[in-house]
Amino acid sequence: MNMLCDRLRMAKERIAEAESRHGRPAGTVTLLAVSKTRPADDIRMALDCGQRAFGENYVQELAAKAIELEDLGVEWHFIGPLQSNKTRTVATIADWVHALDRIKIAERLSAQRPAHLSPLNVCIQINVSGEDTKSGTCPEKAPALAEAIASLPGLRLRGLMAIPAPGNDFDEQRRPFAALRTVFEDLRARGHALDTLSMGMSDDLEAAIAEGSTMVRIGTAIFGERVVRGEG
Ligand SMILES: *Cc1c(COP(=O)(O)O)cnc(C)c1O
Repeated sequence: MNMLCDRLRMAKERIAEAESRHGRPAGTVTLLAVSKTRPADDIRMALDCGQRAFGENYVQELAAKAIELEDLGVEWHFIGPLQSNKTRTVATIADWVHALDRIKIAERLSAQRPAHLSPLNVCIQINVSGEDTKSGTCPEKAPALAEAIASLPGLRLRGLMAIPAPGNDFDEQRRPFAALRTVFEDLRARGHALDTLSMGMSDDLEAAIAEGSTMVRIGTAIFGERVVRGEG
C-alpha cells in the first residue's frame, strides 16, 4: 500500500459521504483523478490502488504519459482547453474530452477519431460564472452546439462540464453548479441522452454532488499541491 492509496480512499469517502448526505444513490459519482503535472510514476501508483480514470490538461503531457503507460488500461480524460492544431493527438489517445466549447474543435476531433476506436466521449464546457470569458460556451448557445455535436459520428455527447470561479461558502459554491444542472436538464428535455455532469474539484466536490454531479475531477486532494507550470 502506498500513500496515494490512502488519499484516494479519503477522496472516495468524501464522495460517498456527500452522496449519502444529499440523497444521491451510492456509487453514482465517479472519481476522475487529475494527474496534470504529476509524473507517470504517480499514475502507476494510483493504478495499483485501483484507480483507472485520469485527467490531463496539456496535450504534450498527455501524449508522453500515454506512451509511458501504454497497455496499463488507463482511461484518459483530456480536461484542458484544446487548440485546433492539437486535436489529432487528443482524438487518437483520449477516451473523453471535457472542455469542448467550439464546433470547429468538435468537427476536427470527430474527423480525426481513428475508425477502430469507439466514438470519443465529450462534454460541452459551459461558462456558468459569466466571469472567466476565455473558456466555455454561454448557456444560451448550448442547445445549438449540442445539436451540432450530436450529429458528428466520431463523437458521443455525454454531458456538460464547468469550472466555476471559487466560491467562499457552500451556498455560493452550489449556485453555478445549479446553473449547470439547469442547462443539463434543458438539453435532456430537448432529447439529448446525456448522463454526465462533470463538476466539482478538490475544494467544492460536496457542493457539486449536492447539485447532481456525476463525475468529480480531483487533483490536489489526491496528489498534493501542484507546482505551477504552463504548457510545455
Ligand atoms: C486542475 C483541474 C482540476 C483539479 O483541481 P484540484 O483543485 O487540484 O482538485 C479539475 N478540473 C480541471 C479542468 C482542472 O484543470
